[in-house]
Amino acid sequence: MTELSGLQPATLLVHGGIERSQHAETSEALFLTSGFVYESAEEAAATFDGSLTRYQYSRFGNPTVAMLEQRLALIEGAEACRVTASGMAAVHAALLCHLKAGDRVVASRALFGSCHWIVSTLLPRFGIASEFVDGTDLEQWRAALARPAALVLLESPSNPMLEILDLAAIAALARAAGAITVVDNVFATPLGQKPLALGADVVVYSCTKHIDGQGRTLGGAVLGRKDWITDTLQPFLRNTGPALSPFNAWLLLKGLETLQLRLDAASRSAAALADLLAGRAEVERVWYPFRPDHPQVALARAQMRDGGTLVSFALRGGRPAAFAFMNALRLTAISNNLGDAKSMVTHPATTTHMRIGAEERARLGIGDGVVRLSVGLEDVADLAADLERGLTAAGQAAAGAL
Ligand SMILES: *Cc1c(COP(=O)(O)O)cnc(C)c1O
Repeated sequence: MTELSGLQPATLLVHGGIERSQHAETSEALFLTSGFVYESAEEAAATFDGSLTRYQYSRFGNPTVAMLEQRLALIEGAEACRVTASGMAAVHAALLCHLKAGDRVVASRALFGSCHWIVSTLLPRFGIASEFVDGTDLEQWRAALARPAALVLLESPSNPMLEILDLAAIAALARAAGAITVVDNVFATPLGQKPLALGADVVVYSCTKHIDGQGRTLGGAVLGRKDWITDTLQPFLRNTGPALSPFNAWLLLKGLETLQLRLDAASRSAAALADLLAGRAEVERVWYPFRPDHPQVALARAQMRDGGTLVSFALRGGRPAAFAFMNALRLTAISNNLGDAKSMVTHPATTTHMRIGAEERARLGIGDGVVRLSVGLEDVADLAADLERGLTAAGQAAAGAL
């Protein structure tokens, strides 16, 4: 793939990682096979003793899956990548392959629900201590990393309040404590933020979100240095088996071809809709990373390419206003998913963040009036009209509640 070096991301998204078969097909070939055959017993033996590198079983590797891994690595600027059947399989593998009993993990509190569960509930069962900090407070990171740690896990922008964490500063503290830094880069996307260049060691994705971006498949990815991927992650993946289906890998390769176009369009609309929401009386507050009123706007502008496709906002009137808003929408779907071609809204307090409880929600600033909007590819004027409909209903509900 050396002939691809120096090319821009939009080009890599289309050409990166292609391995054509003997038929010289245009589109990436779909190798829908679980296994592979050998020319001879000697070839099989050489494959197993490692003297010959070739495909042997799709839990270990598959040509379609390998094209996706190669393309993702090129876009990320990572030495190596392995993909998994879901984003959570990627996070789980990245953590468990590196950790052992007696280790200590420090994580930002505002994590995706299942990531929070792994750190708070699963890891301690295996003798791995975990500690949460407020991700935007460097003093808390400094205090938690004053003692040795094995791994730091964080997410920026965070879900759903779009907090921005200082990736370079946290990665430096982690390194000094002996920890690797794993960044869940789902909200920022591989084009929007480069954690490895900022000092992180490992980046994880749910490819289910923007990378597919069309609601068709789950998928996950782990990226990092070649030695860590080959020596630490790969044995874990090969032997525990969260392998991505070749068909789903093929869907994700097709998704990547349009990633930049989709992200540019959706981010432009998201910035415009954030401004619209901020100007309305029904809205108490808007969180969008590139807006001047975002608490970490300078940091966001320094470490992200654009403000992203997600906007969160608090409606006056709490839950009745939020529900009235969502129920009045005709175009924007109610869904906990995000990063899709179709715009979606969710009420975190009663869905994605219901289980963490009122106290933890209050700590994270997830009020009952907060709505998270994932902006899709519809015409921005149609989306604006849809939001206006929702805001009118929210205003009426808020007035009724008084
Ligand atoms: C969706 C998501 C995940 C989990 O990915 P799945 O593909 O649903 O398993 C992890 N982290 C973040 C930030 C996500 O948005």
